[in-house]
Amino acid sequence: MQSVTKPYRPISWPMKGAGGDTGSWRIHRPIVDYRICSKCQFCWVFCPEAVIDRKEITIDYRYCKGCGVCAKECPTGAISMVKEE
Ligand code: SF4
Ligand code: SF4
Repeated sequence: MQSVTKPYRPISWPMKGAGGDTGSWRIHRPIVDYRICSKCQFCWVFCPEAVIDRKEITIDYRYCKGCGVCAKECPTGAISMVKEE
């Protein structure tokens, strides 16, 4: 009988909260303008912390690190990085 080899998938998935609470050190936070957002989910795909809700496109600021990847990848410019107060 021929053995079946599973395909090798060198993919790792981010896990929300794996890096712990962000605390107070974040300098900028992403703000979504829902008037512009097309719900394309690019930000959800690229967020390295997996803190963006796929359907609602809401951001869990407890774990968001403020890296700005979501704003960089957003094709409509709906995400702005705003300085923390
Ligand atoms: S990448 Fe931009 S347009 Fe797409 S869902 Fe996220 S915020 Fe909305
Ligand atoms: S700033 Fe970084 S961690 Fe926060 S939602 Fe955007 S991509 Fe995710």
